[in-house]
Amino acid sequence: MAAAPKKAPPAAKSPAKKKAAAKPAVKAKPAAKAKPLSTPSPGALAPLPDRQAKARAVIKALRAEFPDTQCSLDHGDGWQLLVATILSAQCTDARVNQVTPGLFKRFPKPADFAKAPIEEIEEAIRSTGFYHNKAKSLQGAARALIEHHGGKLPEDIDELVKVPGCGRKTANVVLGEVYGKPAGVVVDTHVGRISRKLGLTDQDDPVKAERQLNECVPQADWRDFGHLVIDHGRKTCTARGPKCDDCGLFRWCVTRA
Ligand code: SF4
Repeated sequence: MAAAPKKAPPAAKSPAKKKAAAKPAVKAKPAAKAKPLSTPSPGALAPLPDRQAKARAVIKALRAEFPDTQCSLDHGDGWQLLVATILSAQCTDARVNQVTPGLFKRFPKPADFAKAPIEEIEEAIRSTGFYHNKAKSLQGAARALIEHHGGKLPEDIDELVKVPGCGRKTANVVLGEVYGKPAGVVVDTHVGRISRKLGLTDQDDPVKAERQLNECVPQADWRDFGHLVIDHGRKTCTARGPKCDDCGLFRWCVTRA
């Protein structure tokens, strides 16, 4: 059997071919820059002038949707509003409104709260929850007003926040409704939650959130901003299931779904 012919060795590359092989591959075109979002990403707070413009636009949209916005806690005077606001902690305004008529019938004035046995106040407000602490706050507030302010509500926030049970939120509610001059935006859990969604604040702490909101919400709107945002939170942006498809604030929201 004849032997198969040997394969010729591969030809050596010419210098020209070597050069061509060494040539680097053509550079890929840099990817086009991503279009900036019309709203900042969650967590990134926009510059103050942008937040001020956004706050004005949000207020305008909400005023159109809720032209009759107002405090949803029933009250006849400042003291009753203070009581209702203290009771509204961790409780719905609707429940508080069910409780307060009977409460004020039984204890019409701060002096009646001040001298009542604490168990009787507890019993009267039991259904609003946390009734031991709330009763203590109500009686403490009544005694403080009688002792230091002649039974009247002070108009100064620094004095008001010294009243037992009255934090900045409650003080701003009372100052806004009773005297028409809140010291800042009312920040409850709903106002804080929705303001963060809108990129108007990045703070969880209500006092820090209030400071940021005071900078971007016009002072003339400090009182109504809280009412409007709470209305929006009840109707559309609920904590459990925001209806983003039906939301009039969709374009300004940084966490829209
Ligand atoms: S778009 Fe959605 S998350 Fe944003 S404010 Fe409206 S309902 Fe709330």
